[in-house]
Amino acid sequence: MSRSAIASISLPALQHNLERVRTLAPRSKVMAVVKADGYGHGLERVARALASADAFGVAAIADGLRLRASGHRQRIVVLSGIDEPADLAEVRRLDLDVVLHHDDQLAMVKADPDPRPLRVWLKLDTGMHRLGFPHARAGALVRQLRELPQVHPDLSVMSHFANSDVPTDPVNAAQATRFDLATRDLPVARSLANSAAICHMPGAHHEWVRPGGLLYGLGLAPDQTGSDLGFKPVMHLSSKIIAIQSFAAGERIGYAGAYVCPKPQRVGVVAMGYGDGYPRHVGTGGPVLIRGRRSQVLGRVSMDLLSIDLDEFPEVRVGERVTLWGDSLPVEHVAAAADTISYELTCGVTKRVMFLEQP
Ligand SMILES: *Cc1c(COP(=O)(O)O)cnc(C)c1O
Repeated sequence: MSRSAIASISLPALQHNLERVRTLAPRSKVMAVVKADGYGHGLERVARALASADAFGVAAIADGLRLRASGHRQRIVVLSGIDEPADLAEVRRLDLDVVLHHDDQLAMVKADPDPRPLRVWLKLDTGMHRLGFPHARAGALVRQLRELPQVHPDLSVMSHFANSDVPTDPVNAAQATRFDLATRDLPVARSLANSAAICHMPGAHHEWVRPGGLLYGLGLAPDQTGSDLGFKPVMHLSSKIIAIQSFAAGERIGYAGAYVCPKPQRVGVVAMGYGDGYPRHVGTGGPVLIRGRRSQVLGRVSMDLLSIDLDEFPEVRVGERVTLWGDSLPVEHVAAAADTISYELTCGVTKRVMFLEQP
């Protein structure tokens, strides 16, 4: 059976979004964050479109391997660093930068018999309380690292915001101040800003910015799409209508009969379900787009299929394409219907969806 589900990835939109980041942070280098297979868009294709980034940020050494295998030569930063001594050999072989966020990692580096200098990003906890050394230790740690023969003297220091997508939260300014105080007099490159801070906190740009979501055109808050900020959506997810039926008032549709037709109703069935990564939590009312106009999901999303309202589309026929998100249907609106964020939706598109590149 051929599937009709297509995720079309716009390479020009990726390039536009990188340029937009450079306009917003003109004095900073850009570490393009491509973890989770480029936020679900495909690591290699995203990196190819973003080849002019100054560095790539990945979650795992395996992603660094994929990027080196595709010929990328810029710095590649493994954001969660090393887990065991064997990782160090692999990191050196691939010439990857490592983030050090914990004393156990520091001990591994110190015990490493290989004398070649590693490029290190020291990660500080300034308030997120996830990864990082306490910010008050920054000075002592930098001095210690600079004495290690295994560490390249060109050190970088980074931290991560806990709530930068809510610009009014005072924790953002508090984190920025802690970071500035901890790193002020240190001979290091600094990096603090993720996507939201690139937009809202120019004082936090420092030498390196680390955009993820913005590169993919993703919005930062439920009520703000990437387009509102001058970014272009990169993923366009669509599929085909494979059946159309008409039902009488009172008939129930789909699993659990979760939707009851309030009047005679024309219903289309689309080849798209949670097996493709379309969120099951989108229920009746979730937005879809047909012929440029909005319609809605009816009842429960199943594994391979979902039903949509065609009452106001008497002209639509089997075989027509339906947009699930992308272009003029922001993925943020679908995410809101599923009570999640756009990042989770693009990351969740599954392997059985056909990915196409829009050059
Ligand atoms: C994921 C991640 C980013 C990018 O975050 P966005 O909000 O998508 O811009 C930046 N830095 C670190 C350490 C990350 O893990």
